[in-house]
Amino acid sequence: ATATMAPFSTDLVDLFISVKTTRHYHHSRLPAIIATWFQFARDQTWFFTDRDDPYFQNQTNGHMINTKCSSSHNRRALCCKMSVEFDRFLASGRKWFCHFDDDNYVNVPRLLKLLDNYNPREDWYLGRPSIPAPLEIVRQGPEPSKRPKVKFWFATGGAGFCISRALALKMIPVAGGGKFITVGDRIRLPDDVTMGYIIEHLLKKQLTVVEQFHSHLEPMKFLNRDTFHEQVSFSYSKGSRDEWNVVKIDGFDEKDDPKSLSSLSYRHLSGANTHNQEHVR
Ligand code: UDP
Ligand code: MN
Repeated sequence: ATATMAPFSTDLVDLFISVKTTRHYHHSRLPAIIATWFQFARDQTWFFTDRDDPYFQNQTNGHMINTKCSSSHNRRALCCKMSVEFDRFLASGRKWFCHFDDDNYVNVPRLLKLLDNYNPREDWYLGRPSIPAPLEIVRQGPEPSKRPKVKFWFATGGAGFCISRALALKMIPVAGGGKFITVGDRIRLPDDVTMGYIIEHLLKKQLTVVEQFHSHLEPMKFLNRDTFHEQVSFSYSKGSRDEWNVVKIDGFDEKDDPKSLSSLSYRHLSGANTHNQEHVR
């Protein structure tokens, strides 16, 4: 019987999904998520924001977390939120920490299937970089000649990434209890880069590249419709001149209703706009 089974079976209850958001985006971004993929992981998904919001607290069944971090789009505020996400995952006792942005669509069943391939008792950092070579930074040192160069990969936060519990536990001495912010301050880089620095450089554990995570740094229109079901995450963004970077779905285009395009495509991906309530499988 075991021959056909995946090596590790991941259940929804094993998962902790964090979605980074901000008070400025509650109304523009959260409804598309709540109407679609959130419904497949209502007890595992938490929204990390910067203000109490009774309306969305109600919509999410109490899953809005006010991080008390600043609501500005600066490095420090973003690292502050990631730090709270990480600490809340640790406290949850769950096996997998998966982070996403509030412009991601998460194909929950596919995410579970992906995690089946990895043992959460081993160290895993799963995600997708958006640069072709590892990032190279120069650490601050007393003299220019003693400033070491450091090279590491990091998973793009806007595509989503996952960290196993075993790895997260090893990260506690450097990143637990708010220390994530201290590391971010030291290297002065954004939250996802800081995560890569901690895991790849400080802990010497490598990122495992998973091509099925997608951020809007890639053109969504090149994703093949026939492979949507295999992808773990999608994203969207509005580019210049009202051009949207969004998954191409037969039957409607950006001229129809650019404002609700993301919502429409996310509804489509989840099957929520058809009689068939099946999720992307
Ligand atoms: N974000 C935030 N505070 C801000 C602006 C953005 O926490 O002041 C979050 C936002 O909710 C999203 C992520 O940061 O999850 C990335 O923001 P956005 O998509 O606007 O920018 P990008 O970096 O993707 O261009
Ligand atoms: Mn974005």
